[in-house]
Amino acid sequence: MDKIDVLIIGGGISGLASAWWLARSGLSVEVWEANQRPGGKIMSTRQDGYLTERAAAMVLNFRPEVVELVREAGLEPAKTARLPGAEARRYLLHRGRLKALPMRMGAMVASPLWSLRGKLRLLAEPFIFSSGRADETVSEFITRRLGHEVLEKAMEPFIAGTLAGDADQASAAAVLPRLTALERRYGSIAAGVLVNRVLRRRTACTTDTFSFRGGMGTLVETLANTHGINLRTGHTAEELVRQRDGWQATATTEQGQRTVSACHVIVATPAPAAAALVKPSDNELAELLRGISYAGVMIVHTGMARDAIGHPLDGTGFLAPKGESAALTGNLWMSTLFPDRAPPGKILLSSYLGGARAPQVADWDDARLVDETLGTLRPLIDLKADPEMVRIDRHLDALPAYHGAYQARMQAITARLQHIPGLHLEANYRGGVSVRDRLACGHAVANQILGARRWPSVERKRREEAEQSGAKAAYPLGSMDAVIE
Ligand SMILES: Cc1cc2nc3c(=O)[nH]c(=O)nc-3n(C[C@H](O)[C@H](O)[C@H](O)COP(=O)(O)OP(=O)(O)OC[C@H]3O[C@@H](n4cnc5c(N)ncnc54)[C@H](O)[C@@H]3O)c2cc1C
Repeated sequence: MDKIDVLIIGGGISGLASAWWLARSGLSVEVWEANQRPGGKIMSTRQDGYLTERAAAMVLNFRPEVVELVREAGLEPAKTARLPGAEARRYLLHRGRLKALPMRMGAMVASPLWSLRGKLRLLAEPFIFSSGRADETVSEFITRRLGHEVLEKAMEPFIAGTLAGDADQASAAAVLPRLTALERRYGSIAAGVLVNRVLRRRTACTTDTFSFRGGMGTLVETLANTHGINLRTGHTAEELVRQRDGWQATATTEQGQRTVSACHVIVATPAPAAAALVKPSDNELAELLRGISYAGVMIVHTGMARDAIGHPLDGTGFLAPKGESAALTGNLWMSTLFPDRAPPGKILLSSYLGGARAPQVADWDDARLVDETLGTLRPLIDLKADPEMVRIDRHLDALPAYHGAYQARMQAITARLQHIPGLHLEANYRGGVSVRDRLACGHAVANQILGARRWPSVERKRREEAEQSGAKAAYPLGSMDAVIE
């Protein structure tokens, strides 16, 4: 039986990011992925010259770990920034028309989108007391601090469009950790933003929105192909058994069963699969995982000639609030956002439907998905012709709904894990669904594992690196290698 340092079950971005940070330190890492390809939900597909994304379409980053990973993984040359046209605005569906969404406080105060009453309510934010409740929903938290209009015209469509969630059920502390932390720390969001803005000049990295040449698939493929990561596709983990000094795991593969023993195991699968794997070790942990619900999302990608659309498409796209009763939760103007998403003279639009707000959409057939999408888009962007390319991606369990007493559930999971040494849960139901959060959480779990004990493989790698740098220092001055370095 093979013995490795760390086994990672699940080769989505969560598993691959954890593997990348661990392999970099010199640990022997194996990743088991049930599918024949790595990446999990993330997959970029080229069809008729259009490049579509099955899940994450971009990274919105402000974490230094993500900057480090992109640089050290050699991804910098493949990184593609947003095109200048996409930075201009985001739109909101409002009373059946697209309205530019003000992005800054000043613009918000001047915008006709907000009523005078709504603007005055916004200005009162610094004077609102904390509720002292940890279990507020997004709707409760935002209405209390910023007023109903901000919930209706900004936060509800944001939660539905980007997290597939329902603001009336989503836990504010879980999905808006930065805003709730600002209230906790500074008593007000506005005061917190002000303080952070002053501090950020010296500390945090700037916000950056990007994708990659070839799409987000480039990120997962690069991580999966990193030296030191032993990726085993077609490996479905079936059993995880706790040993005296680690774990023994068995997978079903095309060649039969494979069993390895590992000092640490990271389960990086969605919660239901994680529940099945941990059940023999801790039934209570399995129950906590089983209680996490998921929302479905359907994506309709449409490609068409630029002159088939009257709207300038001068932004990232639009979000649709619940009150508008639109079939879509949002629409991304992919070819305005990033280069090479559509052939020259063509447009790629990606429309998102379903989520916790409209679970019935999962039952719609392809024809209905396309009809509803085009029916919504036609008047909004002055769409005058049918698309020449249509692609539909369906996720029945797209994203974990951070609903209900989510923080309490996460705290209970963390407490259980403290009694199970060497077991880690690392997927998008813990610590955020975004690719940014997945990369940063991978860094955190890797640090936790590296700090858990002495690792001979890490020490060996450090020694080798020290020897190599010693050898370089011993080069005669003026040698070619020294000049190149
Ligand atoms: C429609 C959509 C749009 C999105 N847009 C964005 C965006 O623009 N920006 C952004 O930052 N984020 C976005 N996200 C979120 C982000 O893409 C996901 O949160 C992230 O990709 C999830 O990664 P994961 O590794 O946690 O899970 P997954 O991708 O689900 O990976 C889990 C892996 O585990 C494997 N697995 C399961 N069971 C087993 C087993 N028993 N043995 C072995 N392997 C197993 C699965 O096959 C899978 O590959 C979007 C998500 C969706 C669905």
